[in-house]
Amino acid sequence: MRTPLMAGNWKMYKSASETVEFFEQFRPLVEAANDRDIVIAPTFVNIPAAVDSVRGSHIGIGGQNLHWAKEGAFTGEISGPMLKTVGADWVIIGHSERRQYFGETDATVLKRTIAALEAGLKPIVCVGEKLEDRESGATNDVLKTQFDGGIAGLSAEQFAQIAIAYEPVWAIGTGKTATPQMAEDAHKAIRALVAGKFGADAAAATRILYGGSVKPDNAKILMSEEDIDGVLVGGAALDPKSFAAIVNF
Ligand code: PEP
Repeated sequence: MRTPLMAGNWKMYKSASETVEFFEQFRPLVEAANDRDIVIAPTFVNIPAAVDSVRGSHIGIGGQNLHWAKEGAFTGEISGPMLKTVGADWVIIGHSERRQYFGETDATVLKRTIAALEAGLKPIVCVGEKLEDRESGATNDVLKTQFDGGIAGLSAEQFAQIAIAYEPVWAIGTGKTATPQMAEDAHKAIRALVAGKFGADAAAATRILYGGSVKPDNAKILMSEEDIDGVLVGGAALDPKSFAAIVNF
């Protein structure tokens, strides 16, 4: 009932020509996968090359972040309308690397999410615990704090337009994937938070993606869990064959 959403986050990798080469190889491999949403988030400067490369396909292109203002004296930032103008339809918000290295907070996640929706972008909002949280048994508390301080500030109408990505920080880029059961438990906990705030129908409709060392050989088992509706992939999304294998799980 929830359409799978398979998203790739390229972080600060690939040139414009590498972007074009990726899509030349990737497009034919996922042509038949039209029962799922496919998104790639390149660096800002390569969004136009990516948009040109996917024209006529069902692959969507996203930003990896946006500022909450439409324009202004914010050196180095990019706004929602700017992303939309160059052809992006999606945007990742609150990635743990933004939280860890660039001071992103739950409050700024909320501001960016609202700005994305106002610009007509579809946000993928990230949450997830650090290793010490998991080891001290605080995973669900951390998820609740992130949810309450960010996503819960949306209206029901706004909430209906977002996807959530559960990305345990200890699993990102480390090769350590959460077991399907760990991921499923966290997804269930997030869905319960959604139900508590926005109601059972919203909880049933929301797509919750798993992210953290997803590879071709673990995508299928993760996707077989009831509450895992898609994946957010870093490293393995850089290679067209490996991301296509994940998309086609
Ligand atoms: C990510 O960047 O969101 C991510 C999950 O990275 P990786 O797949 O490399 O762990």
